[in-house]
Amino acid sequence: MINRQNENRTCPQESIDPLEAQAEQFRRARCHLAGFKRGLIEFFKAPKRSIGVCFPIEMDDGSVQTFRGYRILHNRVLGPGKGGIRYHPDVSEAEVAALATLMTWKCALVNVPFGGAKGGIVCDPKALSDTELRRITRRFVHELGDNIGPNTDIPAPDLYTDEQTMAWIYDTYDILHPGENNRPVVTGKPLELGGSIGRREATGLGAYYATERFLEVEPISGLTEVFGAAVAIQGFGQVGEVVARAFIDAGAKVIALSDTQGGIYSGDGLDIDLASAHKREHGTLVGLPGTTSITNEDLLTLQCDILVPAALDNQIRKDNADQVKAKLVVEAANAPTTPAADDILSHRGVTVLPDILVNAGGVTVSYFEWVQNIQNEEWPLTDINARLKRRMHTAVDSVVQCWRQLQDDKERPEEAVEADGPTAQGTVCNLRIAALVVAIRRVARATLQRGIWP
Ligand code: NAD
Repeated sequence: MINRQNENRTCPQESIDPLEAQAEQFRRARCHLAGFKRGLIEFFKAPKRSIGVCFPIEMDDGSVQTFRGYRILHNRVLGPGKGGIRYHPDVSEAEVAALATLMTWKCALVNVPFGGAKGGIVCDPKALSDTELRRITRRFVHELGDNIGPNTDIPAPDLYTDEQTMAWIYDTYDILHPGENNRPVVTGKPLELGGSIGRREATGLGAYYATERFLEVEPISGLTEVFGAAVAIQGFGQVGEVVARAFIDAGAKVIALSDTQGGIYSGDGLDIDLASAHKREHGTLVGLPGTTSITNEDLLTLQCDILVPAALDNQIRKDNADQVKAKLVVEAANAPTTPAADDILSHRGVTVLPDILVNAGGVTVSYFEWVQNIQNEEWPLTDINARLKRRMHTAVDSVVQCWRQLQDDKERPEEAVEADGPTAQGTVCNLRIAALVVAIRRVARATLQRGIWP
């Protein structure tokens, strides 16, 4: 029976809860997933496994503090879990679960043989010494036991964790599992311990490759190539800086950049080397000679061709989406656009290249690191970047192809209607939905090919 109770819904409530936002996106994609066994898609809504641990740590001053950590595996149908571990006071089980789910779709989209996972420890890394961080990391790895491993679940860096954290994870796991090649237990390691050349730049470079390919196969009116485009980038960290350099190398003009303290603007285009040197010297981009200071909010609504959010989530919201003037939004950050803003941008004809596609370059090169570790090999940078480019281009092609098909797909499977209610009227089928559909279909097909056990 068709449930019509939500038929009048036109636009969902603005939500900045990561799980709610994700559930809403999943619901939208669900409307286009026909032909699977009844009930199968519902299995992907919740994580397969969620581990929460509490442990004591002896602090430098001799006192004892209790820490809470999570490792959540969303899905392992395509391969071992893969995803970062973050250290932050706001880490929550819901946030980690949402990010683990994103990883499942991201890995499926770039066809790497991993499932989605994520982890986190509730702590304030800025208030902890290196020795305290090392003890916390080692104890967390011990608590997780064999729930992580080269063939089960493979962590990586995330917010406030880095190569050093990964080195401690590897070392602890290696001590607990002597006599084995344990390097593939974690990616994002220092080069000396089996890290991959090109991993640091991979997400930013991947974001550029995705944009370049998208404009090649689906040019936008007034924006047919990266060459000559005016680009504004929010965030100048590991991702934002690499994106900026890649766009400039391709002949674009980066007219605005920002960090936590604000943004800088120059209509003639910014010099990234000068911006980088200024940030190193002063801790911020703001004040770079020859530029105008702007706020982060100004940057998001600048007149430009391409807007790249490369900092935080929930930056483009219901309250500012109607002022975004870019023709193309390239989501290098995770979840920078809320579902309500997504609708507004779609209706206004602003194209959004979604996060699970755009920033999948990171996990792609993490996969290359894992393969190199298993083979005990080191691939050259040119090889890694060529492979990355090929995978990003292929992923863009599959999303665009699916998106074109979905334009004509007005039919919704009855099982989806029963499970989730009718499609929200006014929800445009955009590239985010297409990307999710591609990813979910791949995981669903693999689940059926493996056969549901027993
Ligand atoms: P980073 O910490 O290196 O850089 C973040 C940048 O954002 C910094 O320049 C910081 O100043 C800026 N920033 C922070 N708060 C801001 C604010 N309120 N307004 C404007 N700028 C602000 O982080 P990163 O590794 O570059 O990651 C950026 C985004 O990309 C995050 O959303 C992250 O989840 C996502 N991402 C990163 C990777 C990766 O491999 N690094 C992979 C996938 C997704």
